[in-house]
Amino acid sequence: MRVLVTGGAGFIGSQIQDELLSRGHEVVVVDDLSTGHRENVNTRAVFQQLDIGDERLGEVFAAYRPEAVFHLAAQMDVRRSVREPVYDAQVNILGSLRLLELCRQHGTRRVVYASTGGAIYGEPEYLPADESHPINPISQYGISKHTVEHYLRLYWQNHGVSYLALRFPNVYGPRQDPHGEAGVVAIFSLQMLTGTQPVIFGDGSKTRDYVFIGDIVRAGLIGLDSTVVGVYNLGWGNEITDLTIFDTVRRAIGINVEPRFAPRRLGEVERICLDARRAREDLGWLPTVSLEEGIARAVEYYRSNPHGFRA
Ligand code: NAD
Repeated sequence: MRVLVTGGAGFIGSQIQDELLSRGHEVVVVDDLSTGHRENVNTRAVFQQLDIGDERLGEVFAAYRPEAVFHLAAQMDVRRSVREPVYDAQVNILGSLRLLELCRQHGTRRVVYASTGGAIYGEPEYLPADESHPINPISQYGISKHTVEHYLRLYWQNHGVSYLALRFPNVYGPRQDPHGEAGVVAIFSLQMLTGTQPVIFGDGSKTRDYVFIGDIVRAGLIGLDSTVVGVYNLGWGNEITDLTIFDTVRRAIGINVEPRFAPRRLGEVERICLDARRAREDLGWLPTVSLEEGIARAVEYYRSNPHGFRA
């Protein structure tokens, strides 16, 4: 199948394209390299350095006629969305809408969309949050990611572009940018490996649901092959605190360091974890890599790749 991967120079997109290529699909990557790295693009993929909002994206569709799209390109910094809400909406909402218009015009049959379970529910009313939990985002990023789910539904109902919106938990593992704003496993790993004291924002009790990249790639590929349409949480359903992540990274590295604490940041929820029972029932997906195992693999990766991109 011909597959377009937007955001394919980033952490998750680079891992997904490797799996697509290993299964014999043809891959075109579109990425503006705003946070991604050229090195993350597989040498067997066609690469177009382009903003998804650029009109030339139409030429890419005309030339490659993608049958399916993995839509991962996004402004994904929660704090930046709070500081620059218009920019966030431009990339995440308008960019996605332009992409869907091209899917409609060029007969793309399937879109797998990287939504977020961590930022759309807001401060949870119950945990683990399932897909029926009220949507009350407390960041512009949560609003923009959720808005696209509505467009996806419309493009399915009105134009037959089928979709799967995967509400990702906190994803971690090799190639996550340790210099980025998010991704504490990557950030703590690099800081501890280079002798920098890590900072925890808040008192360390903030919780998230952490899933290893390999499990997320598997969900994406199931989503590509499946005819299931709709919105699905991915996660373990377990709350993991910042302090537990800190301690697990510290043990994997085998050093003695204490965190520094700084004030918590606007736009971030205190607690979240995701109920993925629907994904298990409809897609047959379950996470498999434990936190200890996943963090050990991430730490090994950063030991030899401190820059964080494909070696
Ligand atoms: P990433 O920053 O590593 O990858 C995003 C990629 O998109 C980058 O390569 C970047 O250069 C590219 N990009 C950004 N804006 C673009 C634009 N306007 N045009 C073209 N390319 C653009 O992030 P990631 O962790 O791989 O995240 C991928 C997707 O998964 C995002 O949509 C994000 O919102 C979603 N997500 C990630 C997580 C997580 O824990 N990593 C959690 C929930 C949702």
